[in-house]
Amino acid sequence: MVDHRRLGRELELFCSDPLAGAGLPIWLPAGAAARHAVEEYLREKERRAGYRHVVSPPVARRELFELSGHLDHFGDDMFPPMRLSGDDELMLRPSLCPHHALVFRARGRSHRELPLRVAELGGMYRAERSGVLGGLTRVRAISLNDGHTFRAPEQAVDEVSRELALIREAHADLGVRASGVRLSLRGPGGDYAGDEAMWAAAEGVLRDALARAGVAYAESPGDAAFYGPKIDVQVRDDAGREQTLSTVQVDHGRPRRFGLEYTAADGGRRAPVLIHRSMAGSMERLFAHLIEVHAGAFPAWYAPVQLVVLPVGAGQDAPAAELAAGAVAAGLRAEVAHDGSLGARVRDAARRRVPYVAVIGGREAAGGAAALRLRDGRELGPRPVAQVLDLIGQVVAARSADLLPG
Ligand SMILES: [Zn+2]
Repeated sequence: MVDHRRLGRELELFCSDPLAGAGLPIWLPAGAAARHAVEEYLREKERRAGYRHVVSPPVARRELFELSGHLDHFGDDMFPPMRLSGDDELMLRPSLCPHHALVFRARGRSHRELPLRVAELGGMYRAERSGVLGGLTRVRAISLNDGHTFRAPEQAVDEVSRELALIREAHADLGVRASGVRLSLRGPGGDYAGDEAMWAAAEGVLRDALARAGVAYAESPGDAAFYGPKIDVQVRDDAGREQTLSTVQVDHGRPRRFGLEYTAADGGRRAPVLIHRSMAGSMERLFAHLIEVHAGAFPAWYAPVQLVVLPVGAGQDAPAAELAAGAVAAGLRAEVAHDGSLGARVRDAARRRVPYVAVIGGREAAGGAAALRLRDGRELGPRPVAQVLDLIGQVVAARSADLLPG
C-alpha cells in the first residue's frame, strides 16, 4: 500500500494549507468528484434500505449537548463554545445523534411509523490535538455517513443484522478491505453513561446479531462509546495502524434522556431503542483507505475522470471534443487532452489513474471511431464511439471493479 497523503498530493485529490489549519483538509476537484460519486451511491443505497434523509446544521446551542450527555462524557473532544451573548452559546457538534433525536421528537410518533430510519451525510467536529493530525485519517472537520434508526427494543437484533449486511454490501461495492471486526465494550476507568441493565441488554443484542451473521470478532474492552457498546469494522492503513471505519451501536440511554416515546399498539407510551450506524464511516477516513487500497486507481464508477480523449493531431480536435461532450451528456466525467506528444498524454492519463483513454487519429475520425485503451494496459482497438460510451456506461452502472463489462 501507498501512503494516502503522498498519493493525495500527486493525484491532486486534497490539500492542506497551514493558513486554513491542521486537520482541515480541502478537497480539490478530483477528490471532490470521487467523493460525490461515493456520496450519491451511499444515499441511494440508504434510500433503498428505507432511510429518510435529513439535513441539520453542524452547530447547536450548548444545551443540546448537555442533554445528549456529550458535554459530560465527551467534552474534552469538543471545541470550546462560541458565546454570542450572556446565555447564548453555540457549539460545533461532535456527532449527529442529538439532531437526529430531535427529528424523532419533531412530532408525536406511532408504532406504525417504526422503524424510523434517519440518515444524513453531515459535518461534525473534533478538537483533536495537533500532534495526532495527518492527511485524511485524523481530522478536526469530519463528514460522516451517519444514520439513526428508532425501533421497538425487541427488534434490535433484526436491525443490527440488517445493518451488518448493508455494511458488507457497501464494502464490496467500494472495494473496502476490512482488517477485522471488533465488539467494543466498556473498560476499566472509562467514563460511561447509563445503568448496568442497559449495557447488558445492548451487548446481548450485538452478540446475537454477530452470531446470526456468522461474523468472527474480537472483543475490545475500553473502546465502547460513552453511551453504549458497538460493533466496529476496522481497516488498516499503510503504516499498519488500525482504525474504525463502519460501526453499529445500540443505545437505550439517548431515547430516555431526550424523552423519546411512541404510542404502542396497546395505546401505551414506549421508548424506542436507538441504533447508531455508519455504513462507510467518514468521507475522510473512507477515502484515506480507498486511496491506499486501490493505490489511487479507483473503480471506474468513482474515478475522478473516467475518460480522457486524445486527438492524435489538430485535425481530430472536433471529433475528440464531440466524444468528450457525448460522454459528459451520458453522465460520465470526461476530458480532452491536447498538450504534448501522444505518448506523453497517454503517460499522463496513466499517472492520473484514468480508467479509459480514447485515441482518435485520422483513420478513427474518418470512421466515427476511437481506439480504446484501459488503465491496466489492455488495448481494445478502434470501435464506434457509441460503443465506447456504451462500454464505459455499463461498467460504471454496474459499479464493477473490472474495466470491462461482465
Ligand atoms: Zn449517533
